[in-house]
Amino acid sequence: MTAEERGRLEQLRDNLAAVHQRIERGCADAGRDPGEVTLVVVTKFFPASDVLLLHRLGVRNFGENRDQEAVEKFRDVRRVLSATGEPEPLLHFIGQLQSNKAGHVAAYADVVQSVDRHKLVTALARGARTHDRRLLLLLQVSLDADTSRGGALPEHLDALADAVAAEDLLDLRGVMAVAPLGADPDASFARLREVADGIRSRHPGAGWISAGMSGDLEAGLRHGATHLRVGTAILGSRPSLL
Ligand SMILES: *Cc1c(COP(=O)(O)O)cnc(C)c1O
Repeated sequence: MTAEERGRLEQLRDNLAAVHQRIERGCADAGRDPGEVTLVVVTKFFPASDVLLLHRLGVRNFGENRDQEAVEKFRDVRRVLSATGEPEPLLHFIGQLQSNKAGHVAAYADVVQSVDRHKLVTALARGARTHDRRLLLLLQVSLDADTSRGGALPEHLDALADAVAAEDLLDLRGVMAVAPLGADPDASFARLREVADGIRSRHPGAGWISAGMSGDLEAGLRHGATHLRVGTAILGSRPSLL
């Protein structure tokens, strides 16, 4: 390992420890068991070498939001890890997805958290069949009327959930949301939890709630998040262009 790699490893280790501490404190404050919370480390914009360092530090769940970047990075990551017999990482696709890309994502993602319309369900199901893979899906919920950052409106979720449940190779696991810009994350995630409860009452296997990022993970934990998606607090700030 070069001195530079060692430095980066130390930095990632410190940042990861700080985030784990926030999760532990957040769980204690919310009266929850940290063992029921999965940290998904969002590695978008950062290289495969960082994913490998994080894997060394015990991270197994990674999030990416762009198809091209994710496929190339994780092809490299998986090649290195499988050569040494290391445990497989799980890749969560968390970005807005065009239906013509969805079949491709089905080839390499393990979880797709950003399912927000029927066309995507059809395309992911077709992709899963083509690649003979099973996918775990979360429905992305829009918590305000602005759906430009992705997400289905709550009134469309039941039909979407039924469409996923009807597909053999797609497992409906729950919901995901990003707190709307400028909104109170507590109010947003409280609303998400109501929506999640509604879906789970009809689909008992759909108990995951993916809520909370670097800035609002404590709010996520207060409202039942089972999955946190954290980038900046672990990897540092992303380039602001792009
Ligand atoms: C980038 C991203 C994150 C991570 O955000 P940070 O603020 O860097 O922790 C979480 N969720 C989604 C959907 C993202 O696109």
